[in-house]
Amino acid sequence: MTDFVFTPPPQASVAMAGEAARFPVRRIFCVGRNYAAHAREMGKDPDREPPFFFTKPADAVVDSGATIPYPPETANFHYEIELIVAIGGGGADIRPEAALDHVFAYGVGIDLTRRDLQFEARDKGRPWDWGKAFDRSAPIAPLHRVANVGHPAKGRIWLAVNGAVKQDADLAELIWPVPDIISILSRSMTIRPGDLIMTGTPAGVGAIVPGDKVTGGIEGLGEIAIAIAPR
Ligand code: MN
Repeated sequence: MTDFVFTPPPQASVAMAGEAARFPVRRIFCVGRNYAAHAREMGKDPDREPPFFFTKPADAVVDSGATIPYPPETANFHYEIELIVAIGGGGADIRPEAALDHVFAYGVGIDLTRRDLQFEARDKGRPWDWGKAFDRSAPIAPLHRVANVGHPAKGRIWLAVNGAVKQDADLAELIWPVPDIISILSRSMTIRPGDLIMTGTPAGVGAIVPGDKVTGGIEGLGEIAIAIAPR
């Protein structure tokens, strides 16, 4: 046993659907602009750019059902519904044909974003962390084992604010599907068990404010719900 100068922080984790045991989170990788219509609404050409990544800290995860305080230093707080890929294998230079063997589970998550800080960083050539990697920025619903749901390559992905549908697309619209994302990511980083990948959001992102109830889901992978509270 290693001695520590103080008690280490608790292991970040995500619930598993129908199981008491939780999925331990190591890192959170996020794909930018992975649906063409969303790339366009962000003012970018979806056809010209290879996928790029940013990260969130593992302890940004929040369970579905949480009430999340409106975060500090923003006046433009956005939702982004996303397919979550939970890695149970790992390695470097994984071929696309072998990539799905490394997936343990799938789920539904929301990439909460301080859009004003993200755009300021983007436009000044600065890191995205302050726009993306803040406290409680990764609510994630219970994950479903591959053994139970297979590898969803299509199916409705949607998000609603106070019951009004804002995002409504299909996983088949992903520019870079899951095997490509894993393969490309693994060329730059050795992927490890516990890593999560947020695969990008479809069009229709927008702002939320205190009092809003945000719901969303992916066909076959259940639903997520969060509430936004005052700062
Ligand atoms: Mn996103």
